[in-house]
Amino acid sequence: MTPRTRDTVPDLVSRARDGEVRAVARLISLVEDESPLLREAMAALAPFTGRARIIGITGAPGVGKSTSTSALVARFRSAGKRVGVLAVDPSSPFSGGALLGDRVRMSEHSLDPGVYIRSMAARGHLGGLAWSTPQVLRVLDAAGFDVILVETVGVGQSEVEVAALADSTLVLLAPGMGDGIQAAKAGILEIGDLYVVNKADRDGAPQVARDLRTMLSLAERREGAWSPPILLTSADRGDGVDRVVEALDAHHAWQVEHDLLHGRRARRAREEIEAIAVALLRHRWAGVAGHRGLDDLAAAVAAGDLDPYRAADRLVDAPDA
Ligand code: GDP
Repeated sequence: MTPRTRDTVPDLVSRARDGEVRAVARLISLVEDESPLLREAMAALAPFTGRARIIGITGAPGVGKSTSTSALVARFRSAGKRVGVLAVDPSSPFSGGALLGDRVRMSEHSLDPGVYIRSMAARGHLGGLAWSTPQVLRVLDAAGFDVILVETVGVGQSEVEVAALADSTLVLLAPGMGDGIQAAKAGILEIGDLYVVNKADRDGAPQVARDLRTMLSLAERREGAWSPPILLTSADRGDGVDRVVEALDAHHAWQVEHDLLHGRRARRAREEIEAIAVALLRHRWAGVAGHRGLDDLAAAVAAGDLDPYRAADRLVDAPDA
């Protein structure tokens, strides 16, 4: 065991920056545990952030996200990059479902010191994934990972939104999964910078690609906007994965050329600030001394004694405890 005395924030940050996995893991745990040390940690990490390329991967369960992530990790590793993988699992830790990251972790990369894999369940109280994901990305970025893959299950809006906060978002589909409807339902037609139809070895993959092309052509796009390519892969054999990396690189280069990367990152920071601010407010509301807390206000609104706007005003105007 590392002595607790070595777990001061400056020490953790410097060890994480030296590539020590345990320190990276510990910093991520601070986020997961909503630790009071987090504020200090984020301040210490901030100067080292802004280097990593963040790639979001989303799609319905079973389309091949873990397999594709693994294949992409292999490609980035052979290009000499250090790779972080964050598998965001929306399921409750109590549901007993296997975490996405566990499957990635069991893969060929588990012993590679240049790869760090972490899965994260949406268990936080403060602000869920919108609150925790960007902060975990910050840790990995500051720890010097060149590429960070954020894998989310594209079933719920919030998971899809998390993926969309990446520098590039890859939407994965596969034949035989009612993709068209699923894609439209989860809003993934709006967020993809790159669409990949996996399981190209199966019948129906070209049809999925055609349907997707039709759906995307119907979507409104601004003049001069990036036109998302549609690629086919067989991730379990590695077929087509090189093309995916090329397309990701092309998207990255396009963003740099059009000076769009800053905007995307600012949007991510904006979401992050908002999530932290909301969490701070919630915290404050819960503990406002000498003021009616949220529970009291809710009871009054439910009983018809107060309208929700006046209740909200009282919360917002509440003095600090
Ligand atoms: P996830 O739930 O989206 O992460 O999907 P997985 O990566 O776990 O893959 C789901 C299943 O599809 C696994 O049994 C994989 O072996 C299989 N699979 C992944 N890629 C391919 C592919 O290209 N072709 C075929 N036929 N099966 C694949």
